[in-house]
Amino acid sequence: MNEFIAPARPIIGDDERAAVDRVLRSGMIAQGPEVAAFEQEFSAELAGGRTCVAVNSGTSGLHLGLLAAGIGPGDEVVVPSFTFAATANSVALTGATPVFADIDPQTFCLTPDAAREVLTERTKAVMPVHLYGHPFDAPGFAALAAERDVMIFEDAAQAHGASLDGRMVGTFGTFAMFSLYPTKNMTSGEGGMVACVDDDVARAVRLLRNQGMERQYANEVVGFNARMTDVHAAIGRVQLGKLPAWTAQRQANAATLDAGLAAAAGVVTPAVAPGAVHVYHQYTIRLAGSTGAERDRFVAALKEEHAVGAGVYYPIPNHRLASLEHFAPGLDLPETERAAAEVVSLPVHPSLTEADLTRIVDAVVAVAGAGA
Ligand SMILES: *Cc1c(COP(=O)(O)O)cnc(C)c1O
Repeated sequence: MNEFIAPARPIIGDDERAAVDRVLRSGMIAQGPEVAAFEQEFSAELAGGRTCVAVNSGTSGLHLGLLAAGIGPGDEVVVPSFTFAATANSVALTGATPVFADIDPQTFCLTPDAAREVLTERTKAVMPVHLYGHPFDAPGFAALAAERDVMIFEDAAQAHGASLDGRMVGTFGTFAMFSLYPTKNMTSGEGGMVACVDDDVARAVRLLRNQGMERQYANEVVGFNARMTDVHAAIGRVQLGKLPAWTAQRQANAATLDAGLAAAAGVVTPAVAPGAVHVYHQYTIRLAGSTGAERDRFVAALKEEHAVGAGVYYPIPNHRLASLEHFAPGLDLPETERAAAEVVSLPVHPSLTEADLTRIVDAVVAVAGAGA
């Protein structure tokens, strides 16, 4: 049997180890100069110069961004249901209500039209996700925001370096959150980065990150401890330097998979919208017309018969999770349900070899041809 090809693989090298060692030896471990430098560098590289605030997780970044934008009890925020639960969780944690809407079948992202249909006088914002590393329809959401006086927030957890019509993701919303979890396109161990539209939002996120303090012991608001450590920032700074090459490798791997799978029976390869730069956090195919059980058998066959690890993101839409279903009893989102039954994410990470890519293609072609 061939060696198992993992669905994701964080790359930690000597540079990251040396950076951690440097911080540990400095004796300054908590949030300090490394975090400040990481924020500056991230802003320049990935957020179009917007002020960035580093926090201890992507989920904290969403939560603090929402609070900084004034979201709270009585408010509604429109989110996709086809995403990681952190998107809606962060809304619920503010005391506001997440309102779920459907996705575009091509890009898997929330659509402006679906969001428009569920707007009420309580809707304060729409928070689409740049899912799998593909940018959402930012011009469409900008038009909606102007028309209906709602804010746009970006869940960019999976989309470091993606862009639309030459504009980086992270520059479209009141705030945008990038996750730095180990399986994301770059990591700091755990962490998140919040890119802010203006100084007021940035200051509010900074206050909430640190017990409401700008000056020590002069607490202005009730805040959290959501600080990033200098140890984590040091890892993130090294990874930021490596991200462009990794992204290019993900895109090259995706192109190889696209070509290899073009004729695979019943397999729909990922679309890229005009003007979009996709950074392939996930390379997600559809098994057209499959049920969830058929798709699960497909994933099991890849693993058991071909030692190819594949993931399913996400098998249960948020509006049907035990934790969130009370927000949307009886809701029907047909494209979300169809995607949840059909999607399979194949390995696309930058440490794959040409031989790995060939094995992945051959495995998918074989399993699809067998009508699993
Ligand atoms: C990873 C992820 C988050 C949460 O980020 P963490 O750093 O894990 O807290 C939020 N939204 C989406 C879409 C994600 O993929």
